[in-house]
Amino acid sequence: MTDFDYDLFVIGGGSGGVRAARVASGLGARVALAEGQQLGGTCVNVGCIPKKLFSYGAHYSNDFEDAKAYGWQIDKQPTLNWQILKENKDKEILRLNGIYRNLLTNAGVEIITGFASFVDKHTVQVGGQRISAKQLLIATGGKPFIPDFPGSEHAISSNEAFGFEQLPKSICIVGAGYIAVEFAGIMAGLGVKTTLLHRGDRLLKEFDSELGEHLARELQHYANLVLNTEILSIEKSSDGQLQCQLNTGAILETECVLYATGRNPNVEGLGLAQIGVSLNAKGAVVVDDEYATSIPNIYAVGDVIDRMALTPVALAEGQILVNRLFGKDSKAMSYDNIPTAVFSHPNIGTVGLDEESARKKFGSIRVFKSHFRALKHTLTDSPEKTFMKLIVDAATDKVVGVHMIGTDAGEIIQGIAIAIKAGATKQDFDNTIGIHPTSAEEFVTMRTEA
Ligand code: FAD
Ligand code: NDP
Repeated sequence: MTDFDYDLFVIGGGSGGVRAARVASGLGARVALAEGQQLGGTCVNVGCIPKKLFSYGAHYSNDFEDAKAYGWQIDKQPTLNWQILKENKDKEILRLNGIYRNLLTNAGVEIITGFASFVDKHTVQVGGQRISAKQLLIATGGKPFIPDFPGSEHAISSNEAFGFEQLPKSICIVGAGYIAVEFAGIMAGLGVKTTLLHRGDRLLKEFDSELGEHLARELQHYANLVLNTEILSIEKSSDGQLQCQLNTGAILETECVLYATGRNPNVEGLGLAQIGVSLNAKGAVVVDDEYATSIPNIYAVGDVIDRMALTPVALAEGQILVNRLFGKDSKAMSYDNIPTAVFSHPNIGTVGLDEESARKKFGSIRVFKSHFRALKHTLTDSPEKTFMKLIVDAATDKVVGVHMIGTDAGEIIQGIAIAIKAGATKQDFDNTIGIHPTSAEEFVTMRTEA
């Protein structure tokens, strides 16, 4: 018998929290989880899943065009019924919310509906209920950040874009990170006149620079790209249009402004300061290598610790933590070579180092590149080009970075990531027989150094 209601209390039913709760319960711990909104968190409700569904929907506009070159007669211009797409997306999310609920209850986790806040280091309050636990996990994720400026109240974030009642006729998306470039492809593909506006001169700054350069060229086929520009203020005119005053002196008129300018850790209302949990300058919960906060029985994983804001990372952190706490497995998380995809149009997939970082780390590197028109588009009018890049440490022949922009790049790079994680060399890539005809075979046939 312990003095606590639970062995583990998880705050937040998103990717990290649900995985941790479910696995801990499976390992015999008495677990409760509090969720203030919908189970599944950002990824399921306003992130990965609805975004990818919208991205699939948006690709059809190109597919209808491409089909003509394959002999399909499309007599009437296809039109989008946004309500159908939105309703079907909402239905699927509701189904996933239910699956998350079943996963937890079947694993024996008690679900408590409401927002939790700390009373002391072993007690939380949810609504009027006080609950105690030996260990607690903060898995409260992140929330969109929109800078404060005159008229910023007229701007929306990706959260609201998932719930549009009607699609706007035009949109200006601010930023050049994952969300901005993904939404630019989605909105343009769904028929919205799209502008991508960025304060810098480069898209996807955190990625290999050639990916951003290539994406900028592709994006200009379907959107208006405005670089080195900021919005100073937004005014709403009587017809509902938004007038954006730009720092260049120009005015940009649009129906909707979406800020995709990063996300902040979600710690509001948790009462962390009063129990002494330390936060860094960005407001993220500070944890050690074992995800312990400055209060040893309180842990944190996922977006709230601001390491890598990706669902598979939150899942892995949650699982590794509870395996150690309740399963006595001391395996640590490896943050090396985590693959990632940007579901821009076309998609980007990447694993390992960009060229600049590889050069800094290894000094001497070999770079292999391929630029081509995918076989599918040899018949179509699509201007889309595929780009692939391999970066090799010259001293060891190990492949240390693999980058692709082109159809299904995420699907392709997931497989390659296994090879990179296993330490594959360029010789191993060269020894691998290609699958013909595919785009992916380029990765095993690159022979000439760039
Ligand atoms: P979350 O999933 O955000 O879950 C936190 C949960 O805690 C929420 O449900 C919240 O309601 C709840 N909560 C907060 N405070 C409290 C409280 N006090 N009490 C009770 N409950 C509380 N990642 C990918 O890997 N691939 C993608 O394609 C991808 N696309 C994305 C697209 C968008 C538009 C966004 C915004 C994100 C995307 N991400 C993607 C990132 C991914 O969604 C996050 O990294 C992931 O959801 C983080 O999981 P988490 O458990 O840390 O937090
Ligand atoms: P990112 O950090 O990826 O990008 C933020 C962008 O906003 C940058 O281009 C940045 O510019 C710009 N920016 C920041 N502050 C301002 C400002 N005050 N004014 C103008 N521009 C500004 O954030 P996102 O919001 O796109 O996404 C958040 C995180 O969610 C991602 O980092 C990723 O981890 C996760 N995510 C993952 C996805 C996936 O896996 N496919 C999809 C969507 C999100 P600058 O470069 O100049 O700093």
